Amino acid sequence: MKLSYDLHIHTALSPCASDDMTPNNIVNMAVIKGLDAIAITDHNSSDNCISVIKAAKDNELVVIPGVELQTTEEVHLLCFFNEVSALNDFQSVIDLHMNKTNNNREIFGNQLIMDENDFVVGEKQHMLLTSSGLSLNKAIQTVAEIGGVVVPAHIERNSYSILGNLGFIPSGLNLATLEIYKNDHRAELIEKHKDLEKYRFLVNSDAHALGCISEAERFIEAKSKSIFDIIQAIK
Ligand SMILES: [Zn+2]
Ligand SMILES: [Zn+2]
Repeated sequence: MKLSYDLHIHTALSPCASDDMTPNNIVNMAVIKGLDAIAITDHNSSDNCISVIKAAKDNELVVIPGVELQTTEEVHLLCFFNEVSALNDFQSVIDLHMNKTNNNREIFGNQLIMDENDFVVGEKQHMLLTSSGLSLNKAIQTVAEIGGVVVPAHIERNSYSILGNLGFIPSGLNLATLEIYKNDHRAELIEKHKDLEKYRFLVNSDAHALGCISEAERFIEAKSKSIFDIIQAIK
Protein backbone atom coordinates (compact mmCIF):
# COMPACT_ATOMS: atom_id res chain seq x y z
CA MET A 1 0.00 0.00 0.00
CA LYS A 2 1.03 3.61 -0.56
CA LEU A 3 1.63 5.60 2.59
CA SER A 4 2.23 9.34 2.79
CA TYR A 5 5.10 10.19 5.08
CA ASP A 6 7.40 12.71 6.65
CA LEU A 7 10.16 10.82 8.44
CA HIS A 8 12.27 13.73 9.63
CA ILE A 9 10.60 15.96 12.22
CA HIS A 10 12.21 17.74 15.17
CA THR A 11 10.45 18.51 18.46
CA ALA A 12 11.11 21.34 20.91
CA LEU A 13 13.88 19.14 22.32
CA SER A 14 16.13 20.14 19.43
CA PRO A 15 17.59 23.56 20.30
CA CYS A 16 17.15 24.78 16.73
CA ALA A 17 13.44 23.80 16.66
CA SER A 18 10.53 26.00 17.67
CA ASP A 19 9.14 25.59 21.19
CA ASP A 20 5.77 25.09 19.42
CA MET A 21 6.97 21.69 18.22
CA THR A 22 5.12 19.95 21.03
CA PRO A 23 3.91 16.33 20.83
CA ASN A 24 0.26 17.29 20.29
CA ASN A 25 1.00 20.12 17.87
CA ILE A 26 3.10 17.79 15.72
CA VAL A 27 0.51 15.00 15.78
CA ASN A 28 -2.35 17.38 15.03
CA MET A 29 -0.48 19.02 12.16
CA ALA A 30 0.44 15.64 10.69
CA VAL A 31 -3.21 14.59 10.89
CA ILE A 32 -4.38 17.85 9.30
CA LYS A 33 -1.88 17.33 6.49
CA GLY A 34 -3.25 13.83 5.99
CA LEU A 35 0.04 12.02 6.62
CA ASP A 36 0.02 8.29 7.30
CA ALA A 37 3.41 8.13 9.00
CA ILE A 38 5.89 10.44 10.67
CA ALA A 39 9.17 9.91 12.49
CA ILE A 40 10.54 11.94 15.37
CA THR A 41 14.22 12.64 14.82
CA ASP A 42 15.71 15.05 17.33
CA HIS A 43 19.42 15.75 17.37
CA ASN A 44 21.26 13.06 19.33
CA SER A 45 18.35 12.56 21.74
CA SER A 46 15.07 10.67 21.76
CA ASP A 47 13.59 12.02 25.00
CA ASN A 48 10.40 13.35 23.36
CA CYS A 49 9.76 10.41 21.09
CA ILE A 50 7.60 8.37 23.47
CA SER A 51 5.47 11.46 24.26
CA VAL A 52 4.69 11.96 20.56
CA ILE A 53 3.83 8.25 20.22
CA LYS A 54 1.50 8.54 23.21
CA ALA A 55 -0.03 11.77 21.86
CA ALA A 56 -0.89 9.90 18.64
CA LYS A 57 -2.48 6.88 20.31
CA ASP A 58 -6.05 7.84 19.36
CA ASN A 59 -5.09 8.56 15.76
CA GLU A 60 -4.36 6.40 12.76
CA LEU A 61 -1.01 8.16 12.47
CA VAL A 62 2.05 5.90 12.64
CA VAL A 63 4.90 7.44 14.66
CA ILE A 64 8.27 5.80 14.09
CA PRO A 65 10.78 5.95 16.95
CA GLY A 66 13.89 7.73 15.73
CA VAL A 67 16.80 10.03 16.34
CA GLU A 68 19.09 12.15 14.13
CA LEU A 69 22.60 11.20 15.12
CA GLN A 70 25.57 13.45 14.39
CA THR A 71 28.61 11.24 13.83
CA THR A 72 32.25 12.11 14.51
CA GLU A 73 32.50 13.00 10.80
CA GLU A 74 29.72 15.62 11.39
CA VAL A 75 27.39 13.54 9.22
CA HIS A 76 23.70 13.47 10.13
CA LEU A 77 22.08 10.04 10.11
CA LEU A 78 18.40 9.30 10.60
CA CYS A 79 18.14 6.19 12.75
CA PHE A 80 14.78 4.42 12.86
CA PHE A 81 13.64 1.56 15.09
CA ASN A 82 10.71 -0.84 15.32
CA GLU A 83 10.22 -0.24 19.02
CA VAL A 84 10.88 2.41 21.63
CA SER A 85 12.90 -0.14 23.63
CA ALA A 86 15.31 -0.52 20.70
CA LEU A 87 15.59 3.26 20.37
CA ASN A 88 16.31 3.44 24.10
CA ASP A 89 19.08 0.87 23.68
CA PHE A 90 20.63 2.96 20.93
CA GLN A 91 20.19 6.11 23.02
CA SER A 92 22.26 4.50 25.79
CA VAL A 93 25.06 4.01 23.25
CA ILE A 94 24.76 7.64 22.05
CA ASP A 95 24.84 8.91 25.66
CA LEU A 96 28.11 7.08 26.28
CA HIS A 97 29.59 8.88 23.27
CA MET A 98 28.37 12.43 23.89
CA ASN A 99 30.51 15.31 24.97
CA LYS A 100 28.52 16.66 27.92
CA THR A 101 29.05 20.42 27.38
CA ASN A 102 26.18 22.48 28.81
CA ASN A 103 23.72 24.03 26.39
CA ASN A 104 23.68 27.83 26.24
CA ARG A 105 19.98 28.34 25.65
CA GLU A 106 20.29 32.08 24.92
CA ILE A 107 22.52 31.30 21.96
CA PHE A 108 21.31 27.91 20.76
CA GLY A 109 17.72 27.68 22.03
CA ASN A 110 15.74 25.60 24.50
CA GLN A 111 15.94 21.81 24.71
CA LEU A 112 12.52 21.06 26.18
CA ILE A 113 11.45 17.61 27.32
CA MET A 114 7.65 17.27 27.22
CA ASP A 115 5.06 14.73 28.26
CA GLU A 116 2.19 13.56 26.07
CA ASN A 117 0.06 16.49 27.28
CA ASP A 118 2.71 19.01 26.13
CA PHE A 119 3.76 19.88 29.68
CA VAL A 120 7.44 20.71 29.98
CA VAL A 121 8.79 18.10 32.38
CA GLY A 122 12.48 18.85 32.01
CA GLU A 123 15.20 20.38 29.94
CA LYS A 124 18.15 18.58 28.41
CA GLN A 125 21.22 20.10 30.01
CA HIS A 126 23.99 19.03 27.68
CA MET A 127 24.23 20.55 24.24
CA LEU A 128 22.58 18.32 21.64
CA LEU A 129 23.81 20.12 18.53
CA THR A 130 27.23 18.56 18.49
CA SER A 131 29.05 15.54 17.12
CA SER A 132 28.86 12.32 19.05
CA GLY A 133 31.89 10.07 19.38
CA LEU A 134 30.20 7.49 17.14
CA SER A 135 31.74 7.11 13.70
CA LEU A 136 29.63 6.58 10.60
CA ASN A 137 30.67 2.92 10.44
CA LYS A 138 30.12 2.25 14.11
CA ALA A 139 26.71 3.98 14.09
CA ILE A 140 25.42 2.02 11.09
CA GLN A 141 26.69 -1.24 12.57
CA THR A 142 25.20 -0.55 16.01
CA VAL A 143 21.79 0.45 14.65
CA ALA A 144 21.69 -2.71 12.51
CA GLU A 145 22.58 -4.87 15.51
CA ILE A 146 19.60 -3.39 17.39
CA GLY A 147 17.32 -4.12 14.42
CA GLY A 148 16.98 -0.55 13.18
CA VAL A 149 17.82 1.14 9.91
CA VAL A 150 19.99 4.15 9.03
CA VAL A 151 19.12 6.70 6.35
CA PRO A 152 21.78 9.38 5.76
CA ALA A 153 20.03 12.76 6.11
CA HIS A 154 19.78 15.63 3.60
CA ILE A 155 22.62 14.20 1.52
CA GLU A 156 22.67 17.12 -0.92
CA ARG A 157 23.50 19.71 1.73
CA ASN A 158 27.03 21.03 1.84
CA SER A 159 27.38 20.49 5.57
CA TYR A 160 26.29 17.82 8.04
CA SER A 161 25.74 15.34 5.23
CA ILE A 162 27.47 12.24 3.98
CA LEU A 163 28.00 13.66 0.46
CA GLY A 164 28.85 17.16 1.65
CA ASN A 165 31.39 15.99 4.21
CA LEU A 166 32.90 12.94 2.53
CA GLY A 167 32.20 13.76 -1.13
CA PHE A 168 30.91 10.24 -1.81
CA ILE A 169 29.11 7.36 -0.17
CA PRO A 170 31.68 4.79 0.92
CA SER A 171 30.99 1.36 -0.50
CA GLY A 172 30.29 -1.51 1.84
CA LEU A 173 28.10 0.49 4.21
CA ASN A 174 24.83 -1.17 5.11
CA LEU A 175 22.65 1.50 3.47
CA ALA A 176 19.72 1.10 1.08
CA THR A 177 17.93 4.45 1.37
CA LEU A 178 19.09 8.07 1.31
CA GLU A 179 17.25 11.24 2.27
CA ILE A 180 16.97 14.36 0.20
CA TYR A 181 15.55 17.51 1.61
CA LYS A 182 12.24 19.22 0.78
CA ASN A 183 12.22 18.79 -3.00
CA ASP A 184 12.48 15.67 -5.04
CA HIS A 185 15.59 16.54 -7.05
CA ARG A 186 16.97 13.02 -7.19
CA ALA A 187 17.39 13.09 -10.99
CA GLU A 188 19.67 16.10 -10.72
CA LEU A 189 21.66 14.42 -7.93
CA ILE A 190 22.03 11.14 -9.81
CA GLU A 191 23.22 13.12 -12.82
CA LYS A 192 26.10 14.40 -10.67
CA HIS A 193 26.70 11.21 -8.73
CA LYS A 194 25.95 8.20 -10.91
CA ASP A 195 26.59 5.74 -8.08
CA LEU A 196 23.48 7.01 -6.26
CA GLU A 197 21.27 5.24 -8.80
CA LYS A 198 21.23 2.07 -6.75
CA TYR A 199 19.67 3.68 -3.66
CA ARG A 200 16.08 4.33 -2.67
CA PHE A 201 15.23 7.92 -1.74
CA LEU A 202 13.04 9.54 0.88
CA VAL A 203 12.08 13.20 0.63
CA ASN A 204 11.44 14.61 4.09
CA SER A 205 10.86 18.06 5.51
CA ASP A 206 13.45 18.18 8.34
CA ALA A 207 10.75 20.33 9.97
CA HIS A 208 11.87 22.53 12.84
CA ALA A 209 8.57 24.48 12.78
CA LEU A 210 4.97 23.29 12.45
CA GLY A 211 4.33 24.94 9.09
CA CYS A 212 7.25 23.06 7.55
CA ILE A 213 5.83 19.56 8.09
CA SER A 214 5.30 17.92 4.69
CA GLU A 215 2.03 17.79 2.80
CA ALA A 216 0.72 14.30 2.01
CA GLU A 217 2.29 14.34 -1.45
CA ARG A 218 5.06 11.76 -1.22
CA PHE A 219 4.50 8.07 -0.72
CA ILE A 220 6.31 4.99 0.39
CA GLU A 221 5.23 1.52 -0.68
CA ALA A 222 4.82 -0.76 2.36
CA LYS A 223 3.01 -4.03 3.00
CA SER A 224 0.90 -2.49 5.76
CA LYS A 225 0.48 0.73 7.69
CA SER A 226 2.77 -0.31 10.52
CA ILE A 227 6.14 0.72 11.90
CA PHE A 228 7.57 -2.68 11.07
CA ASP A 229 6.55 -2.65 7.41
CA ILE A 230 7.61 0.96 6.87
CA ILE A 231 11.05 0.15 8.27
CA GLN A 232 11.17 -2.99 6.12
CA ALA A 233 10.40 -0.81 3.09
CA ILE A 234 13.47 1.38 3.65
CA LYS A 235 15.88 -1.33 4.81
ZN1 LIG B 1 20.35 17.29 10.01
ZN1 LIG C 1 17.08 17.29 11.17
